[in-house]
Amino acid sequence: NLQGKTALVTGSTSGIGLGIAERLAEAGARLILNGFGDVDAAKDSVARHGQTPGYHAADLSDPAQIDELMRYAEQDFGGVDILVNNAGIQYVSPVEDFPAAKWDAVIAINLSAVFHTSRLALPGMRERGWGRIVNVASVHGLVASKEKAAYVAAKHGVIGLTKVIALETACTRITCNAICPGWVLTPLVQQQIDKRAAVSGDLQQARDELLAEKQPSLEFVTPGQLGELTLFLCSDAAEQVRGAAWNMDGGWLAQ
Ligand code: NAD
Repeated sequence: NLQGKTALVTGSTSGIGLGIAERLAEAGARLILNGFGDVDAAKDSVARHGQTPGYHAADLSDPAQIDELMRYAEQDFGGVDILVNNAGIQYVSPVEDFPAAKWDAVIAINLSAVFHTSRLALPGMRERGWGRIVNVASVHGLVASKEKAAYVAAKHGVIGLTKVIALETACTRITCNAICPGWVLTPLVQQQIDKRAAVSGDLQQARDELLAEKQPSLEFVTPGQLGELTLFLCSDAAEQVRGAAWNMDGGWLAQ
């Protein structure tokens, strides 16, 4: 039961972040949403699962906007009890063709933003004596795939950062963990399916091949399932789960 807790989920206007926000709202948390795109649809769907959420439009590639986001959370909600670092982008290219600006953007959003939100959320969590940080990493935080240099580097970094924060908070009621999804059918992955289909001309085949390459279950993980895992990590039962990198991946990492 998360009644009385405030949860900030970054990148929660779509995909996994929205699925996690809905589950946390259902459990009674007050939500702060963040991200681009159809903000009203995201707010409505979270409100249907619980309380009307707050929202801040911070672009997480900019540390100054992260400051503003965390100030909004402090002033309007009394701080963040549950921080879900979910916002992320992908860029696919061989290393030697990888645009330097794309490298910088992926590292800023997928890794540095996790550092900034965490360092700004932790003092309040310490003051209130309770907190949960859940970082949405990826199987690509633990193993690599070709043509994803920045993403794989950032996600490995997120898991390292998760462990450091877990150690620094080990003697408190604050925990920090990472979750590591395999393929989830969100706009981020649909783009990769579309890119494959542009070559083969067959969307269904592109989708089947994407799964068959890496995910033995041949089924996508769902945002709702990742929401349930996040809910568990926020529970009292998970108080001694610290510094974990927990995969939910249809068997990807078992190979
Ligand atoms: P998505 O594209 O559906 O959602 C990404 C969210 O992040 C959106 O709300 C978007 O508006 C927001 N966002 C993007 N750039 C931002 C920025 N600069 N500032 C603030 N918000 C920004 O993607 P998704 O698949 O739901 O991905 C969510 C997280 O899950 C990412 O960290 C991704 O790396 C991770 N992940 C996804 C998969 C998958 O298969 N989809 C697998 C493993 C990990």
